[in-house]
Amino acid sequence: MAPESRAVQAAAEAMGGKEKIQAVKTVSIQGEGENGNPGQSLTPDSPATKWKVTGFKQTIDFDNKRMHIEEVRTAQFPFPLDNVVNQSESVDHDIAWNKTGDQVSPRMSDRTARERQLEILRNPIGIMRAAIDPANKRGNYRQEGNRQVIDITTADGQMLTLSINAESHLPASVISAMDQPNLGDVDVETTFADFQDVDGLKLPMRLTTKIDKWMQSDIRVSRYILNPNAGSLAAPDSLKAENAAPADPPVEVTSEPLTKGIWLLGGTGASTSVAFEFSDHLTLFGLPDSEARARAVIEKAHSLRFGKPLTEVVIVNHHFDHSAGLRVAVANGLIIITQRANVAFFKDLIARKHTMVPDELAKTLAPQRAQFKPVDDELVLKDDAMELDLYHVKENPYADTLLMGWVPRERLLVQADLYGSEWATHPWAENLLKNVELRKLNPERDVPSHGRVEPWAEVLQNLHKK
Ligand SMILES: [Zn+2]
Repeated sequence: MAPESRAVQAAAEAMGGKEKIQAVKTVSIQGEGENGNPGQSLTPDSPATKWKVTGFKQTIDFDNKRMHIEEVRTAQFPFPLDNVVNQSESVDHDIAWNKTGDQVSPRMSDRTARERQLEILRNPIGIMRAAIDPANKRGNYRQEGNRQVIDITTADGQMLTLSINAESHLPASVISAMDQPNLGDVDVETTFADFQDVDGLKLPMRLTTKIDKWMQSDIRVSRYILNPNAGSLAAPDSLKAENAAPADPPVEVTSEPLTKGIWLLGGTGASTSVAFEFSDHLTLFGLPDSEARARAVIEKAHSLRFGKPLTEVVIVNHHFDHSAGLRVAVANGLIIITQRANVAFFKDLIARKHTMVPDELAKTLAPQRAQFKPVDDELVLKDDAMELDLYHVKENPYADTLLMGWVPRERLLVQADLYGSEWATHPWAENLLKNVELRKLNPERDVPSHGRVEPWAEVLQNLHKK
C-alpha cells in the first residue's frame, strides 16, 4: 500500500473508522470564539484586531456541496460603523450568497463560491471524506516533524494539503492556497485540536483558521450534530436563474477641484484620494482600496495637468484597505511616501508572489526597484507651487503608522481614519483634536478619506455629538 494510503487509513481508524466517516452526510457545528481582521492591526507586526463571535453555527451537506454559516460578530476594537453584525453566508455548488435578515444578496463572485467550497473541505469530516474517496488523488507523501503530510486533489480540481499527527494518527490540519489581493499567494490553514468523542467519532473541539500569519477564525465547538436534517441549504431560485456570477462593477474615479492645484478624487470605492500639484509633478495622498481603484486613480491623476506627471504617493497607513494600491504604485514607478514603521512591511508586500491572480506588479517584466521616502515625525513637501506638510499621528489607537496632511496656504487638514462625516460614532475624536493641537493647526476645512469635505466648525460640532 502506498504510504499516503496507509496514513489516510490510519487516520480514518483513529477517528472512528472509514464507514463511520462516510456515513456522515450532513453535519452541524455550534460554538463561539473570535474572528480576526487580517491586515487591520495597530502596527504591521502586531496581531489583527478582533471580533467576538457568538452563536456560530455551520451546517454542511457534503454530497450536495452546500454550506451555511451564521454568527454574530461584535467588534472588540473601536469601530465607527456597526459594532454588532449578524452574518449569514451560504454556498451551493458555484453559487454563493449572503443574507441580511430575510434579504438575499445578489449572487457573489465565483471566487467567493470557490473559497466557500474549500471551507467545506477544511472541515475535519470534509477533508477525511475527501481523503478516503477513491475518486480523489492522493500523493506527495512526506514527513514534516511529527506530521505526515499528503496532497489531495479532488475529482473537480480542488487542491488541499492534509497533515496527520504521526503519534495519534488524527488529522492535524488542512491547508488550501488562495490569492489575497494584498498578500498574493497565501496558505489558508485550519488546525484541529482538543479531540473528543462524538457519537463514536473523534472530532476536534477547536478549529483555528489562519491566512498567512493572520488569524481569521478561532472557534471553540460546543456541539457537533451528525446527520441533522440540514433543512434547505439550496440556493434561492432567483440566484439559480442567473447563468453566471456578476462581473465586478466598473470603477469610476471623479475629480473635483478643492482649490487651486488640489483635487479630490472620488467616485466608486470606500475612500477618496487627494491630488496636489507641485511645480513639476503631482503627488497623491491616499491610494485605496483595491488594485482596480488604485490603477484608475493613478490614471486620473496623470490626466489632471497636461505634461505634469504623477511621481509620488502617500500611503497613509499599513492597513490592507489603505495599502491596497501599494503594488500598483510601484509597478507605475511612483515613489512611496509612508511612515517609516511601514517600510519593511511594504517591502515584504512588494516582494511577494502573485502567481494565482497576477496583479500589475507581477506582470511587470523588469524588476521594479521600489523607492521610499520614509516619514519619521514630519516631512514637508514644498516648492514654489505647493506646500503639503505630512505629520505622523501620535498615539492613534487604531493605526500607529498613520500620516495626516496639512496645507498651510488653505488651512486644509487632509486625513484618513481620524474622522468621517458619515460615521455613526467618532472613536478617534480625542486623538484627532490632540494631534491638531500638537501641530498647532487651525484648520479651515477637513478633507477626509472617508466622507465629505466639511468646514472645520462643522467637524467640531459633529465630534461632540457622537
Ligand atoms: Zn480607512
